[in-house]
Amino acid sequence: MVISFIDEEQNSGSNLIADTKLIFSENGLLSKAKNFEFRAEQQHMAVEVAKSLEESQHLVIEAGTGVGKSLAYLIPGILYAVNYNKKAVISTHTINLQEQLTEKDLPMLKQILPLDFSFSMLKGRSNYLCTRRLQRARQQSANLLTSSEIEELRRITDWSNETNDGSLSDFEIMPDPKVWDLVCSERGLCSSKLCGHNSDLSKMGQTCFYQRARSRILSADLLVLNHSLFFSLLGEERDDENNEGVLFNNDFVILDEAHNVGHVASKHIGMSISSGQVRFNLQRLWNSKTGKGLFGLLRSGRATRLVEDAENAMEQFFDELEVACDELNESQCSVKFNNRKRTIWKELRVRSSGIIDDSLTLPLQRVREVLLQVREEVDDSDTVQELAEFNRRIGELREAVLMFLSQSSNDHVYWVERSGKSNTILSLNAAPIDVAVHLRRRLFQCSSPIVLTSATLALSDLQSRKLSSMPQNKLDNPLEYFSTQIGAEMVRSVQVGSPFDYEKQMKLYIAGKMPDPRETEFRDALVAQVRYFVELSDGGAFVLFTNFKLMRDIGEELKGFFIEKGIECMIQGNGVPRSIMLERFKRDERSVLFGTDSFWQGVDVPGDALRNVIITRLPFMVPDHPLVEAQIESIEARDGNAFMEFSLPVAVLKFRQGVGRLIRTKSDNGIVVVLDNRVLTKRYGEIFLHSLPSCPKEVI
Ligand code: SF4
Repeated sequence: MVISFIDEEQNSGSNLIADTKLIFSENGLLSKAKNFEFRAEQQHMAVEVAKSLEESQHLVIEAGTGVGKSLAYLIPGILYAVNYNKKAVISTHTINLQEQLTEKDLPMLKQILPLDFSFSMLKGRSNYLCTRRLQRARQQSANLLTSSEIEELRRITDWSNETNDGSLSDFEIMPDPKVWDLVCSERGLCSSKLCGHNSDLSKMGQTCFYQRARSRILSADLLVLNHSLFFSLLGEERDDENNEGVLFNNDFVILDEAHNVGHVASKHIGMSISSGQVRFNLQRLWNSKTGKGLFGLLRSGRATRLVEDAENAMEQFFDELEVACDELNESQCSVKFNNRKRTIWKELRVRSSGIIDDSLTLPLQRVREVLLQVREEVDDSDTVQELAEFNRRIGELREAVLMFLSQSSNDHVYWVERSGKSNTILSLNAAPIDVAVHLRRRLFQCSSPIVLTSATLALSDLQSRKLSSMPQNKLDNPLEYFSTQIGAEMVRSVQVGSPFDYEKQMKLYIAGKMPDPRETEFRDALVAQVRYFVELSDGGAFVLFTNFKLMRDIGEELKGFFIEKGIECMIQGNGVPRSIMLERFKRDERSVLFGTDSFWQGVDVPGDALRNVIITRLPFMVPDHPLVEAQIESIEARDGNAFMEFSLPVAVLKFRQGVGRLIRTKSDNGIVVVLDNRVLTKRYGEIFLHSLPSCPKEVI
């Protein structure tokens, strides 16, 4: 049934487009919502989304701050899903936006729209408790778990009797990952047949949380999830037979906060395995220190010895890898810095195959073989499945080690990363240098419509013009840079401006007399300027840095000033979680917040609390991550200009994000201060300034 809100006779063209337009009109259905104000830009965006869905066309749409993007895609999305019996998959980057959609926007639309629709959050399978595995883990706990882990299992069991949805987010204190891994739902171990209506489990009145969630998901008109899960599901084989659609049959996709799509996709298309992961899986089979594990339970002496061998081989392999990486780093530094400086590495690029001998994949293969043998000797079907799942996991780890050592994919960059509190965890990583190739094939060749949106996707017209004059580029619109990066160059793109009056709401100050940020005098000048501008707005300022150390130094220097003025200054990284810092900042209108990377984007402080955004330095990325370095090299290899094609666009987009923190509502007012005078002294500087909305400027 097609539901139309307008008279068929008045309806020229499609119902979806016309209905959407009507809902967003001054007296339309949306006007019944609390705080509604008609915004032509919102209506424009909603109609563009409706058009794309109706015509099954992909769309890249930038909608400036204040447009009310989420409603502008949710409403046409709901109409399209319900009227055409499709499923909307809505993906966001941040948990904040997911909460806004599921706790505020969608419940409000359920009250306003005269049609019935359902929505659900989509979480990864391993978020859900598997009651069948829990039951088995309890039976086998004495052989599988240490006493403290048994205690944790008891806590999970008590929780399972009270939880609503049986998912991790229902815990007040997160469970120990080792114990949770034993009881969470797992693809290879899941059999709805065994846990179905007539199973022993169901006779005992047990609930399968995962199957319950799954049936909600399959019947929901709208699913909300995050980009990480979206791209991992995109890489997985589908459960359903019919492979039409992107994640589900007959679905369509809306990706909000789309400026993050490229790097999230690249993480998930690539591979990463850590020493901790290999150890964890082997120790689940047999932990020689605690004498626990599945092979211990099965009393298989030969198998436990082979696991011990593999664990020893694993420890040795990662030790050797660390030594080889230290040597590689030293030789790379002596070339780069002419022996003057040795840096401690965190991510180290490995440019050729065989950095060390492969002493790990054979012991892992032996474990796989013994898993098969043990499987033959076991009657219990659950244990058979558990052994098969281990075989699959260890097989995947083995493949990843092989891939890394042989560097078998030419279009990938390979690196070793150190992590953990004392940097003792090593991981092997690979990621595609050009994620666009993969997304073009996997995402944009789908016939289901895909809409990508964000407030910051476009470069300034000026930069696009400069890039378009370069021989390798055909960039003729401000959104083409973003589209090209993610393989969406053939996709229709639209820009919708912000409804805010920046001429009245924002003023830009540029500190023209600042020393160049690369000079030593810059630091002292920065202290003086931050002090001056914080005083000017009497606090209420975000001071955005690109470097952690510089941020701490300036914070230290200004300690006395803040005490004297009675202004609280919060510095990121001082042990206070980001969300608490933000809450405190919003409550205390005179407070000042010093932040790096994560405060440049995705932070929303409407109202008077934030009236001053100070950009200490233009946010050029340091090309020290192997993936960034490889991307730059690949541009240079085809005689491209890596600065113009990569460093500059990335910095301009981040600059726009930073400035965008200031004005969040029509009644917000404030100043933006740029303390990097390269916006005036360098030729590229005007590109940064051009990328901002038109507003009064003062150079001081
Ligand atoms: S259906 Fe799967 S998740 Fe549910 S209880 Fe059975 S095995 Fe566990």
